[in-house]
Amino acid sequence: MTDIYSNVQMIKERVDASAKKTGRELSDITIVAVSKTVGADAVAHAQEAGIRNFGENRVQEYLKKREVFKDTVNWHIIGPLQRNKVKYILDGVCLLHSLDRLSLAQEIQTQCEKNGTDISALVQLNIGREPTKSGIYEENLERFLEELSVMRRIRVCGLMAIPPMVQDADDNRPYFQKMRTLFEKFREAYPCMTYLSMGMSDDFEAAIEEGSNVVRIGTAVFGARSN
Ligand SMILES: *Cc1c(COP(=O)(O)O)cnc(C)c1O
Repeated sequence: MTDIYSNVQMIKERVDASAKKTGRELSDITIVAVSKTVGADAVAHAQEAGIRNFGENRVQEYLKKREVFKDTVNWHIIGPLQRNKVKYILDGVCLLHSLDRLSLAQEIQTQCEKNGTDISALVQLNIGREPTKSGIYEENLERFLEELSVMRRIRVCGLMAIPPMVQDADDNRPYFQKMRTLFEKFREAYPCMTYLSMGMSDDFEAAIEEGSNVVRIGTAVFGARSN
């Protein structure tokens, strides 16, 4: 049985230690507990342990959990989003981490206009240039941000990436550094960009040391997923 409470305490300590290496602290880092595949009871345990942000990668599952927890937590969509699912995330989602293509942005803009709402989103980069991964290539970021800037319903709040799978978290530092450089560069033109979402269970300390301020942590909070 996974002890979610002590997992969360341990993660908070490690996040704080990594943040302090860069002159920051725990409160400067948003911990998103990735609750995909876990049940509502586990989410409740994490909430009791002080987690306020939860990440889901499937809309269906998000809607189910949202039904239970409503607005008592902040919901993050972190997985690839199909255009026909956009209408389900207009009202209850705090941050979309996976804005990765123009056609999706256009659908979000259209649906938000209809709904009279707007949305906060991060642009997802395919920083490791992996054919199997979604996200835009860095050389297309400038143009994508320009295209997004006329979509008034979409607030671009920063960048997100999932670097390649590696044996050693340190191997991802060059990718984290690239992301940090892009983030700093485009933040000058787009001051709304405040979040750099990178770092998962196996590499969140390296990510924070390289400048991440949002980490998405599943396994280390809830234990290994069965699927
Ligand atoms: C599943 C997932 C995570 C969490 O992964 P862990 O290794 O379990 O921490 C983070 N980000 C995204 C986009 C995910 O799909």
